[in-house]
Amino acid sequence: MNNHHVTVLEIDTKALEHNLNYFKQKLKQETKILAVVKAFAYGSDSVLIAKFLENKVDYFAVAYTTEGIALRDAGIKTPILVLHPQIQNLQTLIDYRLEPNLYSFKIFEAFLELADKTLLMNYPIHLKFNTGLNRLGFWHTDIPKILSCLKETKHVKVQSIFSHLAASEDLEEQEFTINQINNFTYIAQQFYNHLDYKPILHILNTSGVINYAKAQYNMVRIGIGLYGFGNNKEETNQLKNTHNLTSIISQIHLINPGETVGYNRAFVAAGSIKSATIPVGHADGLSRRLGNKKGYVIINNKKAPIIGNVCMDMIMVDVTKIDCKEGDKVIVFNNQEMIQHIADVAETIPYETLTSISQRVKKTLK
Ligand SMILES: *Cc1c(COP(=O)(O)O)cnc(C)c1O
Repeated sequence: MNNHHVTVLEIDTKALEHNLNYFKQKLKQETKILAVVKAFAYGSDSVLIAKFLENKVDYFAVAYTTEGIALRDAGIKTPILVLHPQIQNLQTLIDYRLEPNLYSFKIFEAFLELADKTLLMNYPIHLKFNTGLNRLGFWHTDIPKILSCLKETKHVKVQSIFSHLAASEDLEEQEFTINQINNFTYIAQQFYNHLDYKPILHILNTSGVINYAKAQYNMVRIGIGLYGFGNNKEETNQLKNTHNLTSIISQIHLINPGETVGYNRAFVAAGSIKSATIPVGHADGLSRRLGNKKGYVIINNKKAPIIGNVCMDMIMVDVTKIDCKEGDKVIVFNNQEMIQHIADVAETIPYETLTSISQRVKKTLK
């Protein structure tokens, strides 16, 4: 299908590799890297990203089983941790050699039962502990019961033990975070004392690596950092942006004074202006909050503010002072500053701005 001249998200693999190497140099050489590619690799394309990273990282993580299936269907052989498997998907998960995070007795026992019934041998499982996020995870007091379940089975093997920090980006919460890390060390010790093998240990996400690299254990889980964002400006400046959203001008209109542009006639021309219509709207992931000059795009190196309301499939921008024509390239964002600006206007964080990029937007490698 010829899909030129549409709105495209270009994924910059050079930037991705740069970011991966940036985090590698913060870590010990032997520390494993798990690349988090959930939510379409933060709004891009998990298959394209995973294919590029498969020989460069040790693990992938996705949130849901279906996301793991997409990677297996694309031929990815790297181990894949499913962070939030659902009980009803466990058989499918096994069929696709995906590795479950087991975070409660309900799902742990369901998995053991299935492993027993289908005669799995040493199937890799991951045990998650709650150390303060209070989202998913066993409690440390569950350890004796978990150990006794594990003693009775040869069907599963604990591939890793992990936890997740609640406020790794916030140094004001340092005391809380260090407490989480200490609790995790205690939990890990119980397993190391009672198992005759040593599961991989991991607790750090991107900002965990930045702020608490000492707690890298055997592996770290990097998501947003791979896509260009650290937890402050200095770190983000060291990283390169991977997500570039571009489009083209569909049509140019000359608007007379007093005329309006867009739904609800939200923009009223004070003088004669020139507007450009761009085929990207809130259904593509551009927040409606960017309307009425709160957001902008770049056309021929100049800022063009969004006028009127963001439509589902389009925006109109003011190009009165820009030399441009129909078909010209439009940059919706191509650096972290533009993404941060969109996030700020929408009162959110780059995680949400990136993951909002919809499936309708074509994804390509740059
Ligand atoms: C999403 C997620 C990550 C990645 O976090 P970043 O801040 O994007 O690096 C790591 N671990 C878990 C459990 C997650 O859910």
